[in-house]
Amino acid sequence: MDLQKDLIKKVRKRERLNQEEGEALYNLDLYTLGELADEIRREKYAKKSYFNINRHINPTNVCADICKFCAYSASRKNPNQYTMSHEEILAIAKNAVANGAKELHIVSAHNPNDGVEWYMGAFRKIRKQFPEVHIKAMTAAEIDFLHRQHGLSYDEVLDAMLEAGVDSMPGGGAEIFDEKVREYLCKGKVTSSQWLEIHRKWHERGKESNATMLFGHIESRAHRIDHMLRLRDLQDETGGFNAFIPLVYQKENNFLKVEQFPTGQEILKTYAISRILLDNIPHIKAYWATSTINLALIAQEFGADDLDGTIEKESIQSAAGAASAQGMKLDDFVAMIKNAGFTPVERDSLYNELKVY
Ligand code: SF4
Repeated sequence: MDLQKDLIKKVRKRERLNQEEGEALYNLDLYTLGELADEIRREKYAKKSYFNINRHINPTNVCADICKFCAYSASRKNPNQYTMSHEEILAIAKNAVANGAKELHIVSAHNPNDGVEWYMGAFRKIRKQFPEVHIKAMTAAEIDFLHRQHGLSYDEVLDAMLEAGVDSMPGGGAEIFDEKVREYLCKGKVTSSQWLEIHRKWHERGKESNATMLFGHIESRAHRIDHMLRLRDLQDETGGFNAFIPLVYQKENNFLKVEQFPTGQEILKTYAISRILLDNIPHIKAYWATSTINLALIAQEFGADDLDGTIEKESIQSAAGAASAQGMKLDDFVAMIKNAGFTPVERDSLYNELKVY
């Protein structure tokens, strides 16, 4: 009991916690943990909850890698392969911008049939046609794939992205950093240290990125804490992560056998702990596409200050069972945040406030 009291005191004094203390946070009851995370959230943002008007584009599902948790890539479970042409990507971008999207979030599978120019040419054409839109594209896993497939260095891929007009990097491909778990989940894909190295290099170019963590599958609580602390260490050096996004594992249509799925309590505890541990990453995002909108709304009381966006259309999480395929209407999204007692604030991709509702 004294240990728990000491831990609470330490959090209230805003002292940094280590691995052991991070794990011990899970032993606090949900309400205490929520209160601690909420105190920090309120200190930073009061009742503001951020979101943006964005459109996800997933240009191909053909993949050279085989991640056990993936339901998106074309495989025995999903035989419907597709790869978009630049014209198709541009048509989606045009429609999204006409509907008010300020960010295009572009993430692909690792298609060995597409060259580097398929990626960069698409970004360049979007940039030329829509100079104002924010292009968030290319996970560290995709960058590593282009490096493996086409012999380019990470620096060369990152410079090509800058030249093509990419503004920021999404946080995908991080999964869980623990090497053993990672080897089982997604052997052959970008390693943990490579993922961190790529983000470091991107930050060194003066650019920002997100960081994710896929949880609720075969990892332990200790692995989650380790994951967060590795991000905190890099953030101390670069300051380039603008948000941390805990992604809840989706269980359908994949090859991973998971016995026990995380409860709502476990998900909320993980949001709250990320808010407490990641004292140097400004925003904690409850990505409703994986947590469900209901839990994301509650997560606002457990440290999360960002609900991602309207999304408009999403293919990766919805392939695995998430209810995000058609996104969310702006009016509904705003009303839900308000009804939950928070102030919806539309932001741009770098968290500049655009409109308070
Ligand atoms: S998670 Fe990404 S890299 Fe892994 S199989 Fe799916 S699409 Fe391919």
